Amino acid sequence: MGSSFPREASGTQVASASTSTSTSPRARRPSIAIAGAGFSGAVIAHELANAGCDVQVFESRAHIAGNCHTERDADTGILLHAYGPHIFHTSNPRVWDYVRRFDEFIPFTNRVKAITGGRVYSLPVNLLTINQFFGTTLDPRDAQAFLAAKAEPGIGEPHTFEAQALRFMGRELYEAFFSSYTEKQWGRHPSELPASVLRRLPLRFNYDDNYYASTWQSMPRHGYTAIIGKMLDHPNIRVHLGQRFTREMRTGYAQVFFSGPIDAWFGHVEGRLGYRTLDFTAERHDGDFQGNSVINYCDNSVPWTRIAEHKHFAPWETHQRTVIFREHSRDCGPDDTPYYPIRLAQEKSLLAHYVEMASAERGVCFVGRLGTYRYLDMHLTIAEALDVAHRYRAAMQRGETLPAFVVNPLSS
Ligand SMILES: Cc1cc2nc3c(=O)[nH]c(=O)nc-3n(C[C@H](O)[C@H](O)[C@H](O)COP(=O)(O)OP(=O)(O)OC[C@H]3O[C@@H](n4cnc5c(N)ncnc54)[C@H](O)[C@@H]3O)c2cc1C
Repeated sequence: MGSSFPREASGTQVASASTSTSTSPRARRPSIAIAGAGFSGAVIAHELANAGCDVQVFESRAHIAGNCHTERDADTGILLHAYGPHIFHTSNPRVWDYVRRFDEFIPFTNRVKAITGGRVYSLPVNLLTINQFFGTTLDPRDAQAFLAAKAEPGIGEPHTFEAQALRFMGRELYEAFFSSYTEKQWGRHPSELPASVLRRLPLRFNYDDNYYASTWQSMPRHGYTAIIGKMLDHPNIRVHLGQRFTREMRTGYAQVFFSGPIDAWFGHVEGRLGYRTLDFTAERHDGDFQGNSVINYCDNSVPWTRIAEHKHFAPWETHQRTVIFREHSRDCGPDDTPYYPIRLAQEKSLLAHYVEMASAERGVCFVGRLGTYRYLDMHLTIAEALDVAHRYRAAMQRGETLPAFVVNPLSS
């Protein structure tokens, strides 16, 4: 991948970073510590380095780019999305202009398929899915009336995923595409999940099978790690790989940006916020394994939720071999990589405690998907990181401090 950002061995940099605020010739520059080299940390680091700050980035893993990390497979040369498939999409022109400063973005449309009951269907559920599933040739208006007639009676304002599904698509589609898949994904029955989880999934009465409705949808030619490598490749930035940043290390920095888990900052004193984690089992095959980048497996007789075939995320490349990841979801243990925040009532009440504790911190801003315990796509992560950096610069000029959160983690 060849990113040329400076690397430091772990264990020795904190003291020098801290003392640099008072002893180095650059002592008058604000010294910034950033925990995490994902998009949140890298964008803030880049922006503040450009503004003249000295930036120390600490990353607990052995690589940059967080969960967006991409790397070439040594056997096949295929670009792998190490923590699961990442498709870039945005309708925000500022974010779109920004990311294209770091790589060429090649148009890509995410078209997912689903296997249920031994047959393959188009996703998200659209007119083709409905007509294939019911063996009909309905037009958009008739399809709406058809599904409306299938709505289960007696459901008022739906509060759960299951009630929402039964009300808007009826039992057959719900059981075929959502019930078991959702339970595999979240480890909870859809009757325990909020209706908002289903509301995020589109249901279309036309033949549009493009997963995202964003203005721009693309893949970076060289992958996300190359982009983040370029962001961090700056004379004012030092990256410390394999070094976890802790609360005790904040002394001496003008400002800390923490993109690690908010509960970890406080040593989990109030308990652990719940996440789902993913296990990937990789396989290599000849040729084309499944003919598509992602296929969901909706039946509970299949243990994995989906299979991603990575060469299809870079259709401009040619590879004779192929790499697939079977994806399994489970609750996240203390030593696992956190992926999806669960954010049910119990977690939100715990989160409220941590938000209160964090709000009492001075000089620490909690950012990103782990720092604010929210699921955030990349474009939102980047937009928020740009906003955080902008606000910090403005606060510096006014001699003010930044609040612990730029976005209230409890509001969404
Ligand atoms: C399976 C999956 C698929 C996804 N697919 C898409 C997609 O298709 N499109 C899309 O737009 N978005 C997608 N996303 C979301 C995307 O991954 C996030 O938007 C992005 O990773 C958020 O960046 P971040 O920097 O906030 O967090 P992260 O990428 O998690 O980076 C945080 C970093 O902080 C490090 N860290 C944690 N604690 C510490 C500490 N104490 N000290 C030092 N370092 C620390 C971690 O090791 C990590 O590298 C997906 C997410 C998942 C889980």
